[in-house]
Amino acid sequence: MKHCFRAAVVASLLLFMGLCPAARAQAPTGLISGQSILTLTQQFLAASPKRFNGSPGHAAAERFIRDHFKPESAKGNFEVDQFTADTPAGKQTMRNLIVKYPGKKDGVIVLVSHYETNWPLRNINFVGANDGACTSALLIAIGQYLRAHPPQGNTVWLVFDDGEEAVKQWTESDSLYGTRHLAAKWAADGTLKRVKAVLVADMIGDKDLNIPEEMGSTGWLRAAFRQAAVNTRHTANVFQSQINGEQDDHLPFLDRGVPALDVIDTDYGPFDAKTGDAAYHHTAKDTIDKLSAQSLQTSADLFLETIRLIDQQR
Ligand code: ZN
Repeated sequence: MKHCFRAAVVASLLLFMGLCPAARAQAPTGLISGQSILTLTQQFLAASPKRFNGSPGHAAAERFIRDHFKPESAKGNFEVDQFTADTPAGKQTMRNLIVKYPGKKDGVIVLVSHYETNWPLRNINFVGANDGACTSALLIAIGQYLRAHPPQGNTVWLVFDDGEEAVKQWTESDSLYGTRHLAAKWAADGTLKRVKAVLVADMIGDKDLNIPEEMGSTGWLRAAFRQAAVNTRHTANVFQSQINGEQDDHLPFLDRGVPALDVIDTDYGPFDAKTGDAAYHHTAKDTIDKLSAQSLQTSADLFLETIRLIDQQR
């Protein structure tokens, strides 16, 4: 009786304070610390500030990623997918790096982020803190989490893809080299049939995090991501606007009938009327001071919860 009374008093107090237990987040947040992702981003940028194809920084970026997955390499769960791309700048050797965390199911959820920087920007001080670096760090941090907490549902693969950016100017053939190669390879060897969902992370460390709904992405994955935002209480950062026809690493998978979602914040810095683009996008202004630990933690929360929701459905 006493306990009940006390509970009721506490409950009404919490209600009064706007902390009604029923309104608590349904999903845990902060399982991966945003600060740890920001620190990894900083280390990644220090090791490989410029990562255009063929540069020492590109090789250093590959080493950095590989060095963070020694336990997975030892188990044979780290794969290098090397290929030669025909680009407007000639033939370039590219490498997708794939890390595998076996789950209880045979189905696979694939998380994708590109790690290279743009070939056309090789002569300016472009480091791609938001564009490539922080999402590589996010995937590394998710890998560290999955190492300690192996997937209980679908198997999870991390793909650090190469050659996402155009070598000269974005066209269907001059872009998405890594994911086009991987999707074709997986279609040919039957792997693609196992893939339940592809989730692409791009430019989601922005302090002012605002992830629009990419309408070309698969409907049920958009719904899952929207629900993940509700469950983690990040709705303010998610789907407050819509974009259409975004060209990104989800496309080669969508084109082959694989459900895919592009998680990207295209609105990076104030709008620049001269270029018609967000001011920090593909410029020397894309630096780590434009990112925040909080945004990276939000992104990590959203990805882990989306994986959990996909596991419930498929
Ligand atoms: Zn880019």
